[in-house]
Amino acid sequence: MSIATVNPLNNETLKTFDEPARPDIESTLERAQKTFLEWRKRPFADRSKLMHKAADLLRERKERYADLMTLEMGKVHKEAIAEVEKCADVCDFYADHAAEFLADEPVETEAHKSMIVYNPLGVVLAIMPWNFPFWQVFRFAAPNLMAGNVGVLKHASNVPQCALAIEEVFRDAGFPPCTFSTLLISSEQVESVIAHPVVRAVTLTGSEKAGQKVAETAGKYLKKTVLELGGSDPFIVLADADLEKAAKVAVQARMINTGQSCIAAKRFIVEQKVADRFLERMRHHMEALQGGDPNDDVDYGPMAREDLANDLLEQVEQSVAMGARVVLGGKRPDREGAFLEPTILTDVKPGMPAWEEELFGPVAVVIPVQDVNEAIEVANASPYGLGGSVWTQDLEKGEQVARELETGGVFINALYKSDQRLPFGGVKRSGYGRELSYIGIREFMNQKTVWIE
Ligand code: NAP
Repeated sequence: MSIATVNPLNNETLKTFDEPARPDIESTLERAQKTFLEWRKRPFADRSKLMHKAADLLRERKERYADLMTLEMGKVHKEAIAEVEKCADVCDFYADHAAEFLADEPVETEAHKSMIVYNPLGVVLAIMPWNFPFWQVFRFAAPNLMAGNVGVLKHASNVPQCALAIEEVFRDAGFPPCTFSTLLISSEQVESVIAHPVVRAVTLTGSEKAGQKVAETAGKYLKKTVLELGGSDPFIVLADADLEKAAKVAVQARMINTGQSCIAAKRFIVEQKVADRFLERMRHHMEALQGGDPNDDVDYGPMAREDLANDLLEQVEQSVAMGARVVLGGKRPDREGAFLEPTILTDVKPGMPAWEEELFGPVAVVIPVQDVNEAIEVANASPYGLGGSVWTQDLEKGEQVARELETGGVFINALYKSDQRLPFGGVKRSGYGRELSYIGIREFMNQKTVWIE
């Protein structure tokens, strides 16, 4: 796929970008390394000042940056504004806490002094997806730049202007040149970047397929990786839940970013006793959503690309051909743009795409179960393990279910979301490693032992 801005509202190609030549890529990497050798020695206070400045610029320019997201991947504008604000917050958070998160840790031994010291690794390649084109990058860049690493971004091919804008934020904030660089390259060029000796680690947020390929390449060159991959998060509704609230949040959790979120709730696993009522309420709230031009005050917009809307429709149609039932939607509406109607499926069984695969768009699957044990069994039957939520008035039971779910996180009676104070990531085919919190900032550090006799 070429690197281009294509408006998914009408599939118009607005701008294309040429990939840099090989020597230009090498020169960027070498300049990044040169910057690293100086940047790693800067005191936290200096880095912190620049990171707060980046946060200020994001807030000042939020309209312009939100416009870019809406244009390139169809994000509803008010959600895009909130995304830029969240990026500013993560910059402030690591500007304020990096020194504390990476302070030397004394360890009692028989030595005169022994401790763990955190040293940055160097140039880190970040391969990022289009769905939260600012947030995914800032949740990597804020901690890593504060830690003394430098970043090189290979963004998704459909959000090049977002990629360049992120580079601009760090440049305008006064970071030394090449502390954070954008390379507008296709995935074919990624291996040569990973192979370059100055690149010490790779982080990828994206699909399972891309994660597998990048981890394989990184393994070949022995570079550390963090992988944030797909998910099929369970949303478990027990019979004693506040059904109205659960159904309302269920729709929000499925439809955020027009359903294109790794931690969107995708499988609604509901105790049989309340399944019909829950389905009726969910359908009611889903039907009430207004779709349209993402620049307007709507609830959902087009999907990010035409091919993604067609692929998702195919997953729905194949599941229906195998016996799934459409409760709502199930079609592309009769209008231009990458739209798919908000859809609810039931009677979904193992073997169907809607059971086995990630549904990365506005399609919910409702699965009735006999009891809490079956709910846990169905939730854990997924190859993915990113997030999940549990809805019950019995908080002790909720906590017990949370402990048994094979996911990187569980929220009880709340929408699953990332929070900079808490670690974020997955298990199983959702990847490995963590971002955010003090755990995320330590992923690309040399956790060095120092022993003084
Ligand atoms: P994608 O197609 O995997 O793309 C992600 C990034 O990887 C893009 O920059 C893409 O570049 C690159 N890429 C793809 N194939 C590659 C290869 N063979 N070698 C090197 N780089 C490669 O995913 P997407 O469609 O953008 O995003 C949706 C997926 O991301 C979903 O599965 C979603 O669940 C997951 N996701 C996970 C998280 C998380 O935190 N766990 C967050 C957001 C999204 P090109 O665009 O040039 O192909």
